[in-house]
Amino acid sequence: MKRITVIGCGVVGAAIAYELSLCPGVQVTVVDQTAPAQGSTAAALGVGMAVISHKVKGRNWRLRERSLQRYQTLIPELESLTGRSIQHNTQGILSLCFAAEDLPRWRSLQEIRQRQGYELEIWEPEQVGDRCPHLNPAGVVAGIYSPHDFQLNPTDLTLALVAGAQANGAEFTFGEPVVGFDGADIEAAFQDDRRCTAVHTTKQSWATDAIVIAAGLGTLPLTQALHQPTSIGPVLGQALRIHLDESLGNPDFQPVVNGNDIHLVPLGGGDYWVGATVEFPPETSFEDTLAMQPEGNRLEEVLAGAVAYCPALSAGKITQRWLGLRPRPQGQAAPVIQPLAGYSNIWLATGHYRNGVLLAPATALAVRDLLEHR
Ligand SMILES: Cc1cc2nc3c(=O)[nH]c(=O)nc-3n(C[C@H](O)[C@H](O)[C@H](O)COP(=O)(O)OP(=O)(O)OC[C@H]3O[C@@H](n4cnc5c(N)ncnc54)[C@H](O)[C@@H]3O)c2cc1C
Repeated sequence: MKRITVIGCGVVGAAIAYELSLCPGVQVTVVDQTAPAQGSTAAALGVGMAVISHKVKGRNWRLRERSLQRYQTLIPELESLTGRSIQHNTQGILSLCFAAEDLPRWRSLQEIRQRQGYELEIWEPEQVGDRCPHLNPAGVVAGIYSPHDFQLNPTDLTLALVAGAQANGAEFTFGEPVVGFDGADIEAAFQDDRRCTAVHTTKQSWATDAIVIAAGLGTLPLTQALHQPTSIGPVLGQALRIHLDESLGNPDFQPVVNGNDIHLVPLGGGDYWVGATVEFPPETSFEDTLAMQPEGNRLEEVLAGAVAYCPALSAGKITQRWLGLRPRPQGQAAPVIQPLAGYSNIWLATGHYRNGVLLAPATALAVRDLLEHR
């Protein structure tokens, strides 16, 4: 039996745990310093922009496409295995285009997606108004509608992944930070191809054959303990929930709407998520950036941006506001899915920045492939 320890139980660690729990001959142990889905995952809106993103080739598109495909089976598979329901919206994403000069780029994307086997519709402003009467057509040049893209509740998903992995025999320990490793002493740091043989929390230790670090913003201290610092810094995001007396527009057609990078996410029952801000930290120490505070009225600006394209929101009541820190790699592209340099049995699956929910299933498959290859 191969023992694999996953550090971190946000959406990425939970997806990895579930995918590995399906592999014969593997015993998965997951350790998190908090409960599941408490880090960046707790703040996410769960919007999956794959087909509608401008990534059309290379690793970034392959990961998006693989996630899109895996999600089609993953959600029903988890719901049936665990009996839990995962709130999800399969009515697509509508992106509002406000600049005529952006249209050629959208048309080119539409052609590429058609060749790749995905539909992308470009609507006239009148069609936007017909299909989504709650949207203000003023200034809208076109609506780009992607029926294949989706949204889901990241906490529902993470908890279902945990329950699914547990049903398959994976073990979880919550409330204990990983603080050290066997095989990571400084003498060993100068050898290549070294192995970690155990993981230590403040309370207990596990012998292990392989380690996956899916710790988001906890990656730097863990990799420092392994003498291979990998810098993942925070980018703050704020969002809010708003309640209206009834759902906006056509109750039978409630896609996620995006205008000027502001999402309007329908949740049903007149509830919507609106967000998110993208706030970079001041240039201070890593510890100080983790304590960064939201900037003045940035969330109000985001709400005003949403009201500009959906005026009925102004009658809503804000029922919740929150913020989270997105884990963003420094000096390399997001996400980081690779072996930890110098070690033959440690893998990084971290730094998913703005797309961790979208990319979690593809990350899990990539980690499984890397482990199988090894
Ligand atoms: C406002 C906002 C909106 C977002 N919207 C979207 C969206 O619409 N779509 C999308 O795809 N993404 C979105 N994101 C991004 C998404 O939230 C992240 O990319 C994703 O949650 C990263 O998941 P993760 O599992 O890597 O990290 P996390 O959820 O942060 O999980 C990491 C876990 O590691 C644990 N950990 C750290 N160090 C240790 C240690 N030493 N020992 C044990 N455990 C440890 C932490 O406790 C934590 O639970 C959004 C983010 C924000 C803030």
